[in-house]
Amino acid sequence: MFDYLIVGAGFAGAVMAERLASCDNKKVLVVESRHHIGGNTYDYYNDDGILVHKYGPHIFHTNSRDVYDYLSQFTAWRPYEHRVLASVDGMLVPIPINLNTINQLYGLKLSSLEVNNFLASKAEKKDRIITSEDVVINKVGRELYEKFFKGYTQKQWGLDPSELDASVAARIPTRNNCDNRYFTDTFQSMPLHGYTRLFERMLTHPNIKVMLGTDYKEIEGLIPYKKMIYTGPIDYFFDYCHGKLPYRSIEFRFETFETDRYQPTGTVNYPNEHPYTRVTEFKYLTGQKHIKTTVVFEHPKALGDPYYPVPRPENAELYRKYQLMANNKQNVFFTGRLATYKYYNMDQVIAQSLTLYKKIALITKNERPTNGQKLPSYES
Ligand SMILES: Cc1cc2nc3c(=O)[nH]c(=O)nc-3n(C[C@H](O)[C@H](O)[C@H](O)COP(=O)(O)OP(=O)(O)OC[C@H]3O[C@@H](n4cnc5c(N)ncnc54)[C@H](O)[C@@H]3O)c2cc1C
Repeated sequence: MFDYLIVGAGFAGAVMAERLASCDNKKVLVVESRHHIGGNTYDYYNDDGILVHKYGPHIFHTNSRDVYDYLSQFTAWRPYEHRVLASVDGMLVPIPINLNTINQLYGLKLSSLEVNNFLASKAEKKDRIITSEDVVINKVGRELYEKFFKGYTQKQWGLDPSELDASVAARIPTRNNCDNRYFTDTFQSMPLHGYTRLFERMLTHPNIKVMLGTDYKEIEGLIPYKKMIYTGPIDYFFDYCHGKLPYRSIEFRFETFETDRYQPTGTVNYPNEHPYTRVTEFKYLTGQKHIKTTVVFEHPKALGDPYYPVPRPENAELYRKYQLMANNKQNVFFTGRLATYKYYNMDQVIAQSLTLYKKIALITKNERPTNGQKLPSYES
């Protein structure tokens, strides 16, 4: 009998498996429907021997020392600060928009103070900020909105920014300095030997068994377990009884070129004229030396693997119905991006699972030896 059945071998599931096995000596079965561990962070060497990320580029960054220290048990790191350029008006300019972006785009030599005034003069103040369009126009004005955000958002979401929650654009910064980094977190680095190797080390424990290529519903009732940690889609768990939660998907098109470098930085965004949203060259991220180079073109689409929950009020409402059912489910804990229908970065998912583990450990300790008592479901 397993103590825990863990559905999903991404970060949410792997953290739970590792903690429960290593700290509490629990016997754990991890069931994963794909044929590999690592969830969406899975990386592998392609036919040319270049390390690529199967489900799009994953750059690790966090402000949490706890998360960084936790992962450091399973990997050494390669310092890496991601930089992104946007292809706008025939130029490649830094994004998020900063002092360099404005000076390059408009052929100016503004100072930090002057760029604040410049952006303020462009901004169109809105009384009510409801949509993503409102957020951006209120901050930088219509011209920059159309150059950088409108087309990108339309491609990314299949919706106009005026149809998307303000929250989608609210976290996009603008800077009045020359900091060209994409992220400003305290810890920015990549697992030295890749994510898959990191996961292998997390899951190598005598108490952890991993079953790949298996949907958990195929083995339910056949393999006994006491409790479940569920990291798959929450609507699937409840057989879509309230309907399907909408997601945006992406087609990843990989291409290898007979050249050392394809583009001047890790990622180039294409907000406007191209069908894809961005192109990422993996060697920048991984630091690999190779005479060839592989890039991935991202083509957002409606159908396919669930990647981005679509942030609209009606979808949040639908999720709340499932969340209510999850809260009433005995001995099943929901964690991770699919089970909580929220876009999370890797560090947030890891933090979420570490917190859930602590709660379970505490409850188990406090309740011992009382049997039959209901454990509360996790709420983020
Ligand atoms: C294109 C893209 C780029 C990203 N880039 C970054 C980045 O640069 N930095 C960053 O911090 N974050 C990034 N993220 C977010 C990152 O992918 C997530 O934070 C992370 O993968 C979430 O881990 P998870 O375990 O919750 O989900 P997942 O990694 O999706 O793992 C869930 C696993 O559960 C499995 N599963 C689902 N249903 C079942 C079932 N019924 N039975 C068995 N198994 C099942 C799935 O196959 C999957 O492997 C990106 C996401 C996307 C989509």
